[in-house]
Amino acid sequence: MKENIYNLSFSELKSFFIGLEEKTFRADQLWNWLYVKGINEFSGLNNISKNIINKINDKYYLSELKVSKTLLSKDGTRKWLFELEDGKEIETVYIPDKNRGTICVSSQVGCSLACSFCHTGTMKFSRNLRTSEILGQVIYVKNFLKDWNKNSDKKKITNIVFMGMGEPLLNYDNVIKSINVLTDEKGLAFSKRKVTLSTSGVVPRILDFKEDSDVNLAVSFHAAFDEVRNILVPINKKWSIDHLLEVLKEYSKKKKHKRITFEYVMLEGINDSINDAKELVKLIKPFKAKINLIPFNPWPGSNYNASSPNQVNIFKKFILEEGKLLATVRLPRGDDVLAACGQLKSF
Ligand code: SF4
Repeated sequence: MKENIYNLSFSELKSFFIGLEEKTFRADQLWNWLYVKGINEFSGLNNISKNIINKINDKYYLSELKVSKTLLSKDGTRKWLFELEDGKEIETVYIPDKNRGTICVSSQVGCSLACSFCHTGTMKFSRNLRTSEILGQVIYVKNFLKDWNKNSDKKKITNIVFMGMGEPLLNYDNVIKSINVLTDEKGLAFSKRKVTLSTSGVVPRILDFKEDSDVNLAVSFHAAFDEVRNILVPINKKWSIDHLLEVLKEYSKKKKHKRITFEYVMLEGINDSINDAKELVKLIKPFKAKINLIPFNPWPGSNYNASSPNQVNIFKKFILEEGKLLATVRLPRGDDVLAACGQLKSF
């Protein structure tokens, strides 16, 4: 059976050509076609002989993800529902901004972690995405936006966040492989400073991640007390706040230059009091960190209410002024089409 070529790392592609007894620069040529020029069929490879193209074709195929639905928010955010080869569905979001464009990619079909504020968490976990399905989301959006411009100042997609469906660190190998392709300077060349992986706190994998990758780390923190975090982010029952912070200290020791983003969804009466803010500051203080406050984006059937804008401001002010920590409030984007944070769930 043929394999999707987007599943291959550069070294695997090189081995393929070695196996054919071809020169390894063929791998560089094909990599360039795939990830710099953005071809969508092998027949367009005009610097590679017909004979070699046939051999590539015998083993691999090249295809775009299939869209089953697309929604456009009034703020320009666009959400796609993709149907995968086995009929499973995932969502991808593109968020355009003044000087940048961000793709929020999914890493799993569904999610096993059931965070209680998250729409995806109400779906059952189905399977991990393959590397080709993770990269396929970015490639689809690049094709859609005609974003294969070599001039990096003109790129419409500048940032990638692993914050869509799924827990990326539970699909570790494929996510790390995808990140390596995304940030490969001879290919898609996304800056490592502009790629962010967000985890709910898969403690052992954070230790691996600090060795294996140099992209940014965000943590879905959401509560400063275990009793509350156990409910909002149930993986906390396995790896408590103390345990999580301990490995984050290890991470910070290794990645001294990196700032960890702590994501904190603001839920009325649940985690938005000054007492919560005080404890949060105490916990985060030892880190080079930023706290990203996320106004809750409701979804059908959700059990929580968003904190009022006033309460979000009071909370933020406390962190900034009393805590002397960096804090920002994330602007809800695409919430009218359920494309905002925590709202993704196969339409
Ligand atoms: S927040 Fe992330 S880890 Fe938690 S249920 Fe949603 S997708 Fe899964």
